[in-house]
Amino acid sequence: MQNTIAKTVSFHGKGMHSGRNAIVHLKPSDAGMGIRFHRLDGQGSDNWVPALWDRVIRYPACTCIANDQGVSVRTVEHLMAACYATGIDNLEVEIEGEEVPILDGSARPIVELIDEVGTIDLGEQRRVLEILQPVSYENEHRKFSFEPYDGFAVDINIYPGEYGHMPWAGDMTPAVFKQEIIGAKAWGRLKDIWLPKIVGNFLKNPVLRGAGLNTAVVYAFGRPINPSGLLHANDMVRHKVLDIIGDLQLVGGDIRGKITCHSSAHVTNHSGMAALFNTPDAWRWI
Ligand SMILES: [Zn+2]
Repeated sequence: MQNTIAKTVSFHGKGMHSGRNAIVHLKPSDAGMGIRFHRLDGQGSDNWVPALWDRVIRYPACTCIANDQGVSVRTVEHLMAACYATGIDNLEVEIEGEEVPILDGSARPIVELIDEVGTIDLGEQRRVLEILQPVSYENEHRKFSFEPYDGFAVDINIYPGEYGHMPWAGDMTPAVFKQEIIGAKAWGRLKDIWLPKIVGNFLKNPVLRGAGLNTAVVYAFGRPINPSGLLHANDMVRHKVLDIIGDLQLVGGDIRGKITCHSSAHVTNHSGMAALFNTPDAWRWI
């Protein structure tokens, strides 16, 4: 059944990329409204941005959505994953700022905040996107595929250089997410972080300005330099699962199917969803 948050909760913090503060209020919403962001500081006549796959705009290393007037919200994926974990499919996300705060780099703080107030059943059936035929998106070494499956399963494979092949596969439910995935933090390799972080300061849209040892696990010379941020040795791939689940929430319903990814990245997740929806025979809403 469709759910929303039982009452308004708020949090605030810095964005991973902008480094700027934002205040977020998660507010109850009616059935059928979906998850919608509302930029309280927006400059458009319409400052609402629906959290849907066809609202994604290109932005490095995160999921950014925008409306027709160009009003955007960056780094929505961990909040979207928290909605999956708590079963929320209708929500007003008021945000004063351009980017959802990164908090500790995982989905746990937002899930705990929602769990404190709970959710309410809105009495209407939830939409389910059933995968009818295999669809794949491939770009060089990256691949994102949907295939029919009686349930929802993921099979995620990453190959982070010297760390080898890291797989995570299994049936996914909100309970599994809370058990296995919720606390895996964002991560990056020092060699991939420092240059964009510095160069980003000179760009209109900075990246990783808010990234630090409290918001991500940073790897250098074959090991994490802040290992206290790790829960499991394979948190790298667990966080990729977190990002994929968050991005898949942008379909606007549950998925009945199996997802397979090789070398996942936000841009491949988005392109995979676009490839699916652009193949009308491959899916149906039930
Ligand atoms: Zn992430």
